[in-house]
Amino acid sequence: MILVTGGAGFIGSNFVLDWLVQSDEPVVNLDKLTYAGNLNNLASLNQDPRHIFVQGDIGDQAHVARLLAEHRPRAIVHFAAESHVDRSISGPAAFIETNVNGSFALLEAARAYWSALAAADKEAFRFLHVSTDEVYGSLGPDDAPFSETTPYAPNSPYSASKAASDHLVRAYHHTYGMPVLTTNCSNNYGPYHFPEKLIPLIITNARAGKALPIYGDGQQVRDWLYVSDHCAAIRRVLADGRLGEVYNVGGWNEKANLDVVHTLCDILDQLDPKAQGSYREQITYVQDRPGHDRRYAIDARKLERELGWKPAETFESGIRKTVQWFLDHQDWVCDVQSGDYLKWIDKNYAQR
Ligand code: NAD
Repeated sequence: MILVTGGAGFIGSNFVLDWLVQSDEPVVNLDKLTYAGNLNNLASLNQDPRHIFVQGDIGDQAHVARLLAEHRPRAIVHFAAESHVDRSISGPAAFIETNVNGSFALLEAARAYWSALAAADKEAFRFLHVSTDEVYGSLGPDDAPFSETTPYAPNSPYSASKAASDHLVRAYHHTYGMPVLTTNCSNNYGPYHFPEKLIPLIITNARAGKALPIYGDGQQVRDWLYVSDHCAAIRRVLADGRLGEVYNVGGWNEKANLDVVHTLCDILDQLDPKAQGSYREQITYVQDRPGHDRRYAIDARKLERELGWKPAETFESGIRKTVQWFLDHQDWVCDVQSGDYLKWIDKNYAQR
Protein backbone atom coordinates (compact mmCIF):
# COMPACT_ATOMS: atom_id res chain seq x y z
CA MET A 1 0.00 0.00 0.00
CA ILE A 2 1.19 3.51 -0.81
CA LEU A 3 -0.35 6.85 0.15
CA VAL A 4 -0.55 9.45 -2.60
CA THR A 5 -1.48 13.06 -1.84
CA GLY A 6 -3.06 15.22 -4.54
CA GLY A 7 -3.93 12.17 -6.62
CA ALA A 8 -7.00 13.81 -8.16
CA GLY A 9 -4.92 16.56 -9.79
CA PHE A 10 -3.22 16.51 -13.15
CA ILE A 11 0.04 14.66 -12.41
CA GLY A 12 -1.25 12.82 -9.35
CA SER A 13 -4.16 11.23 -11.23
CA ASN A 14 -1.86 10.21 -14.08
CA PHE A 15 0.47 8.70 -11.47
CA VAL A 16 -2.33 6.73 -9.76
CA LEU A 17 -3.64 5.44 -13.11
CA ASP A 18 -0.15 4.44 -14.28
CA TRP A 19 0.72 2.91 -10.90
CA LEU A 20 -2.27 0.57 -11.02
CA VAL A 21 -1.40 -0.47 -14.56
CA GLN A 22 2.18 -1.27 -13.54
CA SER A 23 1.42 -2.94 -10.21
CA ASP A 24 -1.31 -4.39 -8.02
CA GLU A 25 -0.17 -2.53 -4.94
CA PRO A 26 -3.16 -0.52 -3.63
CA VAL A 27 -3.18 3.27 -3.37
CA VAL A 28 -4.80 5.47 -0.75
CA ASN A 29 -5.40 8.78 -2.47
CA LEU A 30 -5.73 11.79 -0.13
CA ASP A 31 -6.97 14.88 -1.94
CA LYS A 32 -8.82 17.97 -0.77
CA LEU A 33 -10.58 18.35 -4.13
CA THR A 34 -9.81 22.02 -4.64
CA TYR A 35 -10.78 23.52 -8.01
CA ALA A 36 -7.84 21.53 -9.48
CA GLY A 37 -8.89 18.14 -8.11
CA ASN A 38 -11.14 16.19 -10.44
CA LEU A 39 -12.46 12.74 -9.63
CA ASN A 40 -13.51 12.33 -13.27
CA ASN A 41 -9.80 11.74 -13.99
CA LEU A 42 -10.10 8.55 -11.93
CA ALA A 43 -13.49 7.40 -13.19
CA SER A 44 -11.95 4.24 -14.68
CA LEU A 45 -11.04 3.19 -11.11
CA ASN A 46 -14.56 3.58 -9.69
CA GLN A 47 -15.02 -0.15 -9.18
CA ASP A 48 -11.36 -0.91 -8.50
CA PRO A 49 -10.73 -2.02 -4.90
CA ARG A 50 -7.03 -1.16 -5.26
CA HIS A 51 -7.89 2.58 -5.23
CA ILE A 52 -9.14 4.09 -1.98
CA PHE A 53 -10.06 7.74 -2.34
CA VAL A 54 -10.20 9.94 0.77
CA GLN A 55 -11.20 13.59 0.62
CA GLY A 56 -9.10 15.55 3.09
CA ASP A 57 -6.48 18.22 3.67
CA ILE A 58 -2.78 17.41 4.05
CA GLY A 59 -2.74 20.23 6.61
CA ASP A 60 -5.05 18.24 8.89
CA GLN A 61 -2.32 16.37 10.75
CA ALA A 62 -4.70 14.35 12.92
CA HIS A 63 -6.58 13.13 9.86
CA VAL A 64 -3.35 12.16 8.08
CA ALA A 65 -2.19 10.34 11.24
CA ARG A 66 -5.45 8.35 11.34
CA LEU A 67 -5.09 7.42 7.67
CA LEU A 68 -1.52 6.26 8.17
CA ALA A 69 -2.49 4.18 11.21
CA GLU A 70 -5.41 2.61 9.35
CA HIS A 71 -3.72 1.80 6.03
CA ARG A 72 -0.07 1.28 7.07
CA PRO A 73 1.48 2.46 3.77
CA ARG A 74 5.09 1.64 2.96
CA ALA A 75 5.52 5.00 1.17
CA ILE A 76 4.04 8.46 0.75
CA VAL A 77 4.21 10.17 -2.64
CA HIS A 78 3.42 13.83 -2.09
CA PHE A 79 1.90 15.72 -5.05
CA ALA A 80 -0.72 17.84 -3.26
CA ALA A 81 -0.09 21.53 -3.83
CA GLU A 82 -1.45 24.77 -5.10
CA SER A 83 0.30 24.71 -8.45
CA HIS A 84 -0.62 27.66 -10.66
CA VAL A 85 1.84 30.58 -10.75
CA ASP A 86 -0.80 33.14 -11.84
CA ARG A 87 -3.04 32.20 -8.93
CA SER A 88 -0.07 32.53 -6.57
CA ILE A 89 0.38 36.13 -7.74
CA SER A 90 -3.25 37.10 -7.21
CA GLY A 91 -3.67 35.07 -3.98
CA PRO A 92 -0.47 33.79 -2.37
CA ALA A 93 -2.03 32.83 1.00
CA ALA A 94 -3.40 29.48 -0.21
CA PHE A 95 0.09 28.59 -1.49
CA ILE A 96 1.67 29.17 1.91
CA GLU A 97 -1.17 27.30 3.61
CA THR A 98 -0.97 24.15 1.49
CA ASN A 99 2.55 24.05 0.08
CA VAL A 100 4.35 25.16 3.25
CA ASN A 101 2.07 24.53 6.26
CA GLY A 102 0.33 21.57 4.65
CA SER A 103 3.62 19.90 3.69
CA PHE A 104 4.88 20.54 7.22
CA ALA A 105 1.81 18.90 8.78
CA LEU A 106 2.17 15.94 6.41
CA LEU A 107 5.84 15.58 7.31
CA GLU A 108 5.03 15.67 11.01
CA ALA A 109 2.37 12.97 10.66
CA ALA A 110 4.75 10.91 8.52
CA ARG A 111 7.58 11.31 11.03
CA ALA A 112 5.45 10.11 13.94
CA TYR A 113 4.21 7.13 11.89
CA TRP A 114 7.69 6.24 10.59
CA SER A 115 9.32 6.55 14.03
CA ALA A 116 6.91 4.00 15.47
CA LEU A 117 7.39 1.39 12.72
CA ALA A 118 9.16 -1.89 13.40
CA ALA A 119 12.81 -1.88 12.27
CA ALA A 120 12.34 -3.60 8.89
CA ASP A 121 9.32 -1.46 7.94
CA LYS A 122 11.13 1.63 9.15
CA GLU A 123 14.03 0.90 6.84
CA ALA A 124 11.77 0.21 3.87
CA PHE A 125 9.63 3.35 4.31
CA ARG A 126 9.95 6.23 1.79
CA PHE A 127 8.62 9.81 1.66
CA LEU A 128 8.87 11.09 -1.92
CA HIS A 129 8.30 14.81 -2.38
CA VAL A 130 7.33 15.98 -5.87
CA SER A 131 8.63 19.45 -6.66
CA THR A 132 9.39 21.79 -9.51
CA ASP A 133 12.36 23.24 -11.42
CA GLU A 134 10.93 26.71 -10.71
CA VAL A 135 12.67 26.69 -7.31
CA TYR A 136 15.95 27.34 -9.14
CA GLY A 137 14.81 30.71 -10.55
CA SER A 138 15.45 31.94 -14.07
CA LEU A 139 18.27 31.20 -16.55
CA GLY A 140 19.90 33.47 -19.10
CA PRO A 141 20.06 32.26 -22.73
CA ASP A 142 23.61 30.91 -22.37
CA ASP A 143 23.42 29.53 -18.82
CA ALA A 144 23.88 25.81 -18.17
CA PRO A 145 20.63 23.97 -17.32
CA PHE A 146 19.61 23.56 -13.68
CA SER A 147 21.39 20.71 -11.91
CA GLU A 148 20.70 19.30 -8.45
CA THR A 149 23.35 21.64 -7.02
CA THR A 150 22.02 24.85 -8.58
CA PRO A 151 21.32 27.32 -5.73
CA TYR A 152 17.66 28.00 -5.02
CA ALA A 153 16.36 31.38 -6.24
CA PRO A 154 12.54 31.18 -6.42
CA ASN A 155 10.85 34.20 -7.98
CA SER A 156 7.09 33.68 -7.57
CA PRO A 157 5.01 32.97 -4.46
CA TYR A 158 4.39 29.52 -5.99
CA SER A 159 8.05 28.65 -6.44
CA ALA A 160 8.96 30.19 -3.06
CA SER A 161 6.35 28.02 -1.34
CA LYS A 162 7.62 24.91 -3.15
CA ALA A 163 11.20 25.84 -2.23
CA ALA A 164 10.16 26.09 1.42
CA SER A 165 8.65 22.61 1.29
CA ASP A 166 11.78 21.22 -0.41
CA HIS A 167 13.89 22.63 2.43
CA LEU A 168 11.60 21.13 5.07
CA VAL A 169 11.83 17.71 3.40
CA ARG A 170 15.61 18.00 3.27
CA ALA A 171 15.73 19.03 6.93
CA TYR A 172 13.63 16.02 7.98
CA HIS A 173 16.28 13.77 6.48
CA HIS A 174 19.24 15.57 7.99
CA THR A 175 17.65 16.19 11.39
CA TYR A 176 15.54 13.10 11.99
CA GLY A 177 17.01 10.65 9.50
CA MET A 178 13.69 10.34 7.68
CA PRO A 179 14.02 8.38 4.42
CA VAL A 180 13.05 11.15 2.00
CA LEU A 181 13.53 11.65 -1.73
CA THR A 182 12.84 14.82 -3.74
CA THR A 183 12.22 15.19 -7.46
CA ASN A 184 12.33 18.57 -9.21
CA CYS A 185 10.61 18.38 -12.56
CA SER A 186 10.10 20.68 -15.52
CA ASN A 187 6.73 21.57 -17.11
CA ASN A 188 4.47 18.57 -17.60
CA TYR A 189 1.81 18.17 -20.25
CA GLY A 190 -0.56 15.40 -21.30
CA PRO A 191 -4.00 13.91 -20.51
CA TYR A 192 -6.13 15.45 -17.73
CA HIS A 193 -4.16 18.71 -17.76
CA PHE A 194 -6.32 21.41 -16.23
CA PRO A 195 -7.09 24.04 -18.88
CA GLU A 196 -5.68 27.02 -16.99
CA LYS A 197 -2.14 25.92 -17.97
CA LEU A 198 -0.62 26.89 -21.33
CA ILE A 199 -1.01 23.74 -23.45
CA PRO A 200 -4.59 22.75 -22.53
CA LEU A 201 -5.62 26.44 -22.45
CA ILE A 202 -4.47 26.88 -26.03
CA ILE A 203 -6.17 23.67 -27.24
CA THR A 204 -9.49 24.44 -25.54
CA ASN A 205 -9.53 28.17 -26.40
CA ALA A 206 -8.64 27.48 -30.03
CA ARG A 207 -11.54 25.09 -30.46
CA ALA A 208 -13.92 27.47 -28.65
CA GLY A 209 -12.98 30.27 -31.09
CA LYS A 210 -11.40 32.30 -28.27
CA ALA A 211 -8.17 34.31 -28.17
CA LEU A 212 -4.92 32.37 -27.65
CA PRO A 213 -3.17 34.54 -25.05
CA ILE A 214 0.62 34.90 -25.26
CA TYR A 215 2.37 36.61 -22.36
CA GLY A 216 4.72 39.42 -23.45
CA ASP A 217 6.84 38.45 -26.47
CA GLY A 218 6.23 34.70 -26.04
CA GLN A 219 9.96 34.02 -25.91
CA GLN A 220 9.93 32.56 -22.37
CA VAL A 221 11.62 29.16 -22.61
CA ARG A 222 10.42 26.09 -20.72
CA ASP A 223 11.47 22.45 -20.75
CA TRP A 224 8.52 20.14 -21.47
CA LEU A 225 8.00 16.59 -20.23
CA TYR A 226 5.15 14.23 -21.13
CA VAL A 227 3.36 13.38 -17.89
CA SER A 228 3.71 9.58 -18.12
CA ASP A 229 7.49 10.04 -18.38
CA HIS A 230 7.36 12.02 -15.14
CA CYS A 231 5.32 9.24 -13.52
CA ALA A 232 7.88 6.65 -14.65
CA ALA A 233 10.69 8.79 -13.19
CA ILE A 234 8.89 8.98 -9.84
CA ARG A 235 8.45 5.20 -9.79
CA ARG A 236 12.19 4.76 -10.47
CA VAL A 237 13.21 7.19 -7.73
CA LEU A 238 10.77 5.62 -5.28
CA ALA A 239 12.16 2.17 -6.02
CA ASP A 240 15.88 2.86 -6.10
CA GLY A 241 16.64 6.51 -5.32
CA ARG A 242 19.34 7.17 -2.75
CA LEU A 243 17.89 8.45 0.52
CA GLY A 244 18.07 12.20 1.07
CA GLU A 245 18.92 12.79 -2.60
CA VAL A 246 17.37 15.17 -5.09
CA TYR A 247 16.72 14.09 -8.69
CA ASN A 248 15.98 16.57 -11.48
CA VAL A 249 13.48 15.32 -14.05
CA GLY A 250 13.30 16.89 -17.51
CA GLY A 251 12.55 16.12 -21.12
CA TRP A 252 15.49 17.80 -22.88
CA ASN A 253 12.82 19.78 -24.73
CA GLU A 254 13.48 23.49 -24.39
CA LYS A 255 10.82 25.43 -26.27
CA ALA A 256 9.80 29.09 -26.38
CA ASN A 257 6.13 29.52 -25.43
CA LEU A 258 5.32 31.03 -28.82
CA ASP A 259 6.80 27.99 -30.60
CA VAL A 260 4.70 25.70 -28.41
CA VAL A 261 1.58 27.64 -29.37
CA HIS A 262 2.48 27.58 -33.07
CA THR A 263 3.05 23.81 -32.88
CA LEU A 264 -0.32 23.30 -31.16
CA CYS A 265 -2.12 25.42 -33.77
CA ASP A 266 -0.50 23.51 -36.62
CA ILE A 267 -1.36 20.09 -35.15
CA LEU A 268 -4.92 21.21 -34.44
CA ASP A 269 -5.23 22.48 -38.02
CA GLN A 270 -4.43 18.92 -39.15
CA LEU A 271 -6.28 16.84 -36.55
CA ASP A 272 -9.33 18.87 -35.57
CA PRO A 273 -12.35 18.15 -37.78
CA LYS A 274 -13.69 21.60 -36.77
CA ALA A 275 -10.59 23.44 -38.08
CA GLN A 276 -11.18 26.13 -40.68
CA GLY A 277 -8.17 28.12 -41.85
CA SER A 278 -5.36 28.40 -39.31
CA TYR A 279 -5.75 28.53 -35.55
CA ARG A 280 -2.65 30.77 -35.49
CA GLU A 281 -4.98 33.65 -36.43
CA GLN A 282 -6.44 33.56 -32.89
CA ILE A 283 -3.07 34.35 -31.24
CA THR A 284 -3.28 37.50 -29.09
CA TYR A 285 -0.40 39.08 -27.18
CA VAL A 286 -1.26 40.05 -23.59
CA GLN A 287 0.59 41.90 -20.85
CA ASP A 288 3.42 39.81 -19.43
CA ARG A 289 3.11 38.12 -16.03
CA PRO A 290 4.88 40.15 -13.28
CA GLY A 291 8.34 38.70 -12.52
CA HIS A 292 7.98 36.19 -15.36
CA ASP A 293 11.01 33.86 -15.41
CA ARG A 294 12.71 33.91 -18.78
CA ARG A 295 14.12 30.44 -19.13
CA TYR A 296 14.05 27.09 -17.34
CA ALA A 297 16.12 24.13 -18.47
CA ILE A 298 16.81 20.87 -16.68
CA ASP A 299 19.90 18.72 -16.61
CA ALA A 300 18.42 15.25 -15.94
CA ARG A 301 21.68 13.31 -16.30
CA LYS A 302 21.85 12.23 -12.64
CA LEU A 303 18.55 10.38 -12.95
CA GLU A 304 19.70 8.72 -16.15
CA ARG A 305 23.14 7.82 -14.79
CA GLU A 306 22.02 6.49 -11.40
CA LEU A 307 18.60 5.04 -12.16
CA GLY A 308 18.59 4.52 -15.93
CA TRP A 309 15.57 6.77 -16.52
CA LYS A 310 15.09 8.51 -19.86
CA PRO A 311 11.92 10.05 -21.30
CA ALA A 312 10.13 7.75 -23.74
CA GLU A 313 8.34 10.56 -25.60
CA THR A 314 9.84 13.30 -27.69
CA PHE A 315 8.08 16.67 -27.63
CA GLU A 316 6.77 15.97 -31.14
CA SER A 317 5.23 12.59 -30.21
CA GLY A 318 3.94 13.74 -26.81
CA ILE A 319 2.30 16.91 -28.06
CA ARG A 320 0.46 15.06 -30.87
CA LYS A 321 -0.82 12.50 -28.35
CA THR A 322 -1.94 15.31 -26.08
CA VAL A 323 -3.88 17.16 -28.79
CA GLN A 324 -5.52 13.91 -29.85
CA TRP A 325 -6.43 13.14 -26.22
CA PHE A 326 -8.17 16.50 -25.84
CA LEU A 327 -10.02 16.00 -29.14
CA ASP A 328 -11.15 12.55 -27.98
CA HIS A 329 -12.22 13.68 -24.49
CA GLN A 330 -14.59 16.56 -25.10
CA ASP A 331 -16.87 15.41 -22.27
CA TRP A 332 -14.01 15.76 -19.80
CA VAL A 333 -13.20 19.22 -21.16
CA CYS A 334 -16.84 20.40 -20.96
CA ASP A 335 -17.17 19.10 -17.44
CA VAL A 336 -14.01 20.75 -16.17
CA GLN A 337 -14.85 24.08 -17.80
CA SER A 338 -17.71 24.92 -15.50
CA GLY A 339 -18.41 26.71 -12.24
CA ASP A 340 -15.47 28.10 -10.31
CA TYR A 341 -12.97 27.49 -13.09
CA LEU A 342 -14.93 29.58 -15.59
CA LYS A 343 -15.35 32.45 -13.12
CA TRP A 344 -11.61 32.51 -12.46
CA ILE A 345 -10.56 32.28 -16.09
CA ASP A 346 -13.00 35.04 -17.11
CA LYS A 347 -11.71 37.34 -14.37
CA ASN A 348 -8.04 36.72 -15.12
CA TYR A 349 -7.87 36.41 -18.88
CA ALA A 350 -10.95 38.08 -20.32
CA GLN A 351 -9.85 41.67 -19.66
CA ARG A 352 -6.28 41.21 -20.89
P1 NAD B 1 -2.71 20.22 -9.75
O1 NAD B 1 -2.98 21.62 -9.32
O2 NAD B 1 -3.27 19.74 -11.02
O3 NAD B 1 -3.21 19.20 -8.61
C1 NAD B 1 -3.00 19.43 -7.25
C2 NAD B 1 -3.89 18.47 -6.48
O4 NAD B 1 -3.64 18.68 -5.08
C3 NAD B 1 -5.38 18.71 -6.71
O5 NAD B 1 -6.05 17.48 -6.90
C4 NAD B 1 -5.85 19.37 -5.42
O6 NAD B 1 -7.21 19.08 -5.10
C5 NAD B 1 -4.90 18.76 -4.41
N1 NAD B 1 -4.72 19.60 -3.22
C6 NAD B 1 -4.48 20.95 -3.19
N2 NAD B 1 -4.37 21.36 -1.92
C7 NAD B 1 -4.53 20.26 -1.13
C8 NAD B 1 -4.49 20.04 0.26
N3 NAD B 1 -4.31 21.07 1.13
N4 NAD B 1 -4.67 18.79 0.73
C9 NAD B 1 -4.88 17.74 -0.12
N5 NAD B 1 -4.93 17.90 -1.46
C10 NAD B 1 -4.75 19.14 -1.95
O7 NAD B 1 -1.13 20.07 -9.72
P2 NAD B 1 -0.18 19.21 -10.67
O8 NAD B 1 0.13 20.00 -11.87
O9 NAD B 1 -0.74 17.86 -10.79
O10 NAD B 1 1.15 19.16 -9.77
C11 NAD B 1 1.34 18.13 -8.81
C12 NAD B 1 2.65 18.38 -8.09
O11 NAD B 1 3.71 18.38 -9.02
C13 NAD B 1 2.71 19.71 -7.36
O12 NAD B 1 3.38 19.53 -6.14
C14 NAD B 1 3.52 20.61 -8.29
O13 NAD B 1 4.22 21.59 -7.58
C15 NAD B 1 4.46 19.59 -8.92
N6 NAD B 1 4.93 19.91 -10.27
C16 NAD B 1 4.05 20.22 -11.26
C17 NAD B 1 4.52 20.47 -12.54
C18 NAD B 1 3.60 20.76 -13.70
O14 NAD B 1 4.06 21.04 -14.81
N7 NAD B 1 2.29 20.68 -13.53
C19 NAD B 1 5.90 20.42 -12.80
C20 NAD B 1 6.77 20.11 -11.76
C21 NAD B 1 6.28 19.84 -10.49
